[in-house]
Amino acid sequence: MPVTDSEFSPERAAGMRLGIMGGTFDPIHYGHLFVAEEARARFALDQVLFVPNGAPPHKKEYLLTAAQDRYEMTCLAIADNPAFACTSLELDRSGPSYTVDTLATLRSQYATAELFYITGIDAIADILTWRRHSEIIRMATFIAAARPGFDLKTLQDLLPAAYMERILLLGTTAQGISSTEIRERTRAKLPTRYLTPDGVLDYIRDHHLYEHKAVPLADAASQAGETIP
Ligand code: ATP
Ligand code: MG
Repeated sequence: MPVTDSEFSPERAAGMRLGIMGGTFDPIHYGHLFVAEEARARFALDQVLFVPNGAPPHKKEYLLTAAQDRYEMTCLAIADNPAFACTSLELDRSGPSYTVDTLATLRSQYATAELFYITGIDAIADILTWRRHSEIIRMATFIAAARPGFDLKTLQDLLPAAYMERILLLGTTAQGISSTEIRERTRAKLPTRYLTPDGVLDYIRDHHLYEHKAVPLADAASQAGETIP
């Protein structure tokens, strides 16, 4: 089934409050969708734009599923929410995806929009390792969602106060769902229904995703004759 292109046009962006939800989405799940919806409602966002990562510099210890598959699953998952959209902008770039480049691109595309970068606390807890993080923290307001094992204290212990001032916290309903769990359950033939929308489950089944143990990145690189930095 062809995936409808759900990107929205910059003309719609004037003065809007734009949420940006980046992730590997391997696969997207109800944790991501719920956090995006909660952030939208709580902080009066007009739209949330899902940005599947191309080749993330931090992730992963395993070989990611093809970017096109992750993008198509993301588009399928958000299709029934008119406030959600999906972009392939990171997929169209070669080399690793850096958040600073994504935010700069979106800033130039949506010049008058107010940008809100939505993330889990586990992800933003690493921000000091992100490329040009001192610029990133000023390029958007951050919305950080709690995850099991990651709360406000986690961030306070790790980040400078100036960074904390740029972060809004979202204490969501406990959502223990992770992509890792869906991959592992699929491989083990355990139930995955109700963890992600049915369209995503159909896509996983039809494309035989996650049926085998993922190739550790070190092995994949040595097979390709590359070295990991
Ligand atoms: P993996 O298990 O492969 O790391 P994941 O479930 O963490 O996958 P990502 O694509 O890594 O999903 O996450 C994208 C963003 O969504 C990150 O900022 C992450 O913290 C956040 N996120 C993912 N799942 C949840 C959840 N259940 N609750 C809150 N935030 C979440
Ligand atoms: Mg993750």
